Amino acid sequence: MQAAVHKDFPLLAPWKGPYGGVPDFAKVKIADFKPALLEAIARDRAEIGKIARNKAAPTFANTIAAMEAAGRPLNRVSAVFNIYTSTMDDKEMQAVEKEMSPVLAAFNDEVIQNAALFKRIKAVYDARETGRLSPEQKRLVWVVYRRFARQGAALGEADKKKLAAINQELAGLYTAFSQNELADEEDHWLTLENGDLAGLPDWLVAAAAGAAEEKNEKGKYVFANTRSAMEPFLTFSTRRDLREKAFRMWTSRGDNGDAHDNNAIITKILALRAEKAALLGYPTFAHWITDYQMAKTPERVRDLLMKVWTPAVARVHEEVADMQKIADAEGAGIAIAPWDYRFYAEKVRKARYDLDDGAIKPYLQLDKIREGMFWAAGQLYGFEFAEVHGVPVVQKDVRVFDVRKAGKHVGLMYYDPYARAGKSSGAWMNEYRSQERFQKPVTPIISNNLNFVKTAPGKPILVSWDDATTMFHEFGHGLHGLNSNVTYPTLAGANTVPDFVEFPSQLNEHWLPTKEVLSRFALHVETGKPIPDELVAKIKAAKTFNQGFLTVEYLVSAIVDMKIHLAGATPVDARAFEKQTLAEIGMPAEIVMRHRLPHFGHIFSGEGYASGYYDYIWADVLVADAAEAFEAAPGGYYDKALAKKLHDEIISRGDSVDAADAYRRFRGRDATVDALMRDRGFPAPVKA
Ligand SMILES: [Zn+2]
Repeated sequence: MQAAVHKDFPLLAPWKGPYGGVPDFAKVKIADFKPALLEAIARDRAEIGKIARNKAAPTFANTIAAMEAAGRPLNRVSAVFNIYTSTMDDKEMQAVEKEMSPVLAAFNDEVIQNAALFKRIKAVYDARETGRLSPEQKRLVWVVYRRFARQGAALGEADKKKLAAINQELAGLYTAFSQNELADEEDHWLTLENGDLAGLPDWLVAAAAGAAEEKNEKGKYVFANTRSAMEPFLTFSTRRDLREKAFRMWTSRGDNGDAHDNNAIITKILALRAEKAALLGYPTFAHWITDYQMAKTPERVRDLLMKVWTPAVARVHEEVADMQKIADAEGAGIAIAPWDYRFYAEKVRKARYDLDDGAIKPYLQLDKIREGMFWAAGQLYGFEFAEVHGVPVVQKDVRVFDVRKAGKHVGLMYYDPYARAGKSSGAWMNEYRSQERFQKPVTPIISNNLNFVKTAPGKPILVSWDDATTMFHEFGHGLHGLNSNVTYPTLAGANTVPDFVEFPSQLNEHWLPTKEVLSRFALHVETGKPIPDELVAKIKAAKTFNQGFLTVEYLVSAIVDMKIHLAGATPVDARAFEKQTLAEIGMPAEIVMRHRLPHFGHIFSGEGYASGYYDYIWADVLVADAAEAFEAAPGGYYDKALAKKLHDEIISRGDSVDAADAYRRFRGRDATVDALMRDRGFPAPVKA
């Protein structure tokens, strides 16, 4: 019977094959998602119902552990569904996503609002100190209880209904927001002629020619409205008129007053979030979000952001003055505008640091950098990576790596490096399957998603230093998943509180600039020679370069995110709010927010980073502090004892311990902001 059921719903069946089973993408049909998701929800509903109706007194085993065991078919189909919505999101898939996202959100609410279930969870939670629970079990009880309570499980019936309606409406708005953002990235682009290419490096021209061919504009040059195309264009094009045109197009995503305009959606989202927070007993949405994070309160976040803001803005003014000097010396007759920043910053960099991205790039081959990050993970965590063939993939460019430690399989990594239509822009890690050893040992499956423009076969892809850093970053998330060593899947890998989740990724970036990695893997594409020491020294010296710009464009996004979610019930006009807030905090006129509100998908296409864009710098405070620990260790970044401590206390622990405690055990004390200031070349705050 079971077999027949699975035959009808291949998306729900246990994954078969090697490595404890892998998703069978060959069998995926988009039309199957909806019926499979509905069936999975029905099965999960039945399992949860059984737990809730259990006549036996609530225990850890019959309630919390039983919940961990439930919903496996839903986990499996959701994993594949998420892979498709993020990497294979064509029109058909978008329609399914639009229809099913609210259904999934509604089911989540249904579980959270199951009063009988919550009563049992609360009973286990209340008795957690009296039983004989292990520390990890106690942590799981706390995490589960907290998740339910935070989402309104303790509310009365009428309020629960209200909350469910709000969440459902929000889910639809989040999807609409991200689809508008994607539409503005895909429907607008810059088409240039031969005579418009002044200043652009060959690789960029070649990529633009390829993009033009895809749009049936052979002989022309197309620059997509995405970060990966726009940032280099703005850096290199000597045509100020075109830079302005590109910049305006790029920074207007979601803000064009057309069918894909996101401003009205933002107002609706904020109103619903305010209502939601009030229902849950919090003054604002920002309070609700920060309450369960390391930060705990919006005030602590604001303190940190403003502590860094003032020196960062001061640095921007210095940077602009430096650039203006160059423009004046060239007789450009301009005042630095936002579309000039990257262009003149590149000139300052060349003049002051004699550092030319074009000189570095030939040493940064995509495949070699990937090997380098594998190698560093081998040094730190003892991992070995071997490509395997024959494992089904979602798209033919995806490569699969078997990850081993001391000869034993520990997990799989799916590597998806290229941009394609329907794939979200940027870079990210996705956990297809979390590690656990609750019922039986299960190894993790993680993916590494990048957006490089594919070149002709056999022609190595050269990446920028920033791109190489991003690769180490996303791989750091993957390592968090691969190193996970916990019992319960809810506590596994990267499932930590959001303001800690960027710690393993941002810390991992620090291994790219090590001599050990660069001398082995930063090899010149033609000569095969390693990157010269003097070039590395220049890269390191340039580390604090442009930190004013980078810090401010990020910080302002975090500040606006926090502030807009502190507005409470006051209706928000996104355009006016953005303008007013920037004026209030003294935003330099030469910079825009890294993500302007109408395309700030981090905070409006879901709740992952809402009131949480600060997460990156919160984690970076820890990262800078941890990096100083490695720098001071006898073996530096390859110090075995410190790497073991990092692994044992933090990276292998997932959410099975409190992040602040884990960090304290690793470092022997709390982190302070001083290391971050030093890292960015800002004056460290004066001690009170
Ligand atoms: Zn990250």
